[in-house]
Amino acid sequence: MMKTCTVCKRELPLTDFYKRARSHDGIDYSCKSCVNERRRLWASKNASKLKQHSEKYRLRRRDEAMDYLGGRVCTCGYSDVRALTIDHINGLEGNPRQQGIKIHNEILNMTETDAREKYQVLCWNCNWIKRMEGKMR
Ligand SMILES: [Zn+2]
Ligand SMILES: [Zn+2]
Repeated sequence: MMKTCTVCKRELPLTDFYKRARSHDGIDYSCKSCVNERRRLWASKNASKLKQHSEKYRLRRRDEAMDYLGGRVCTCGYSDVRALTIDHINGLEGNPRQQGIKIHNEILNMTETDAREKYQVLCWNCNWIKRMEGKMR
């Protein structure tokens, strides 16, 4: 028994097709490799779309939060946003990078004055130095 795949048009043995209860002969219309290829494409397309979206969203929220705190610049004058981070002035458990959107939302929900009392924009160098000094004290 052979069947022609509707996608790649190859004539293949039935073992190369998945079973499909709803098709008229109980066999899928396209062969296994076509089905797998379609699944793979679909998954990778959706995964990268999702990732791009959330990364873009995260960066946008971060920029907004930094502007709210007085601008995208560290107290030392460093202003390359790629190496800037939001720092909890009185210290915060955990890595601020891992706080992600949560910290941005928190900032944007506070008044500017409250936010600036609690958070500041720091570059990773200053952030790191601050953390080292905190540990040595
Ligand atoms: Zn096929
Ligand atoms: Zn700095």
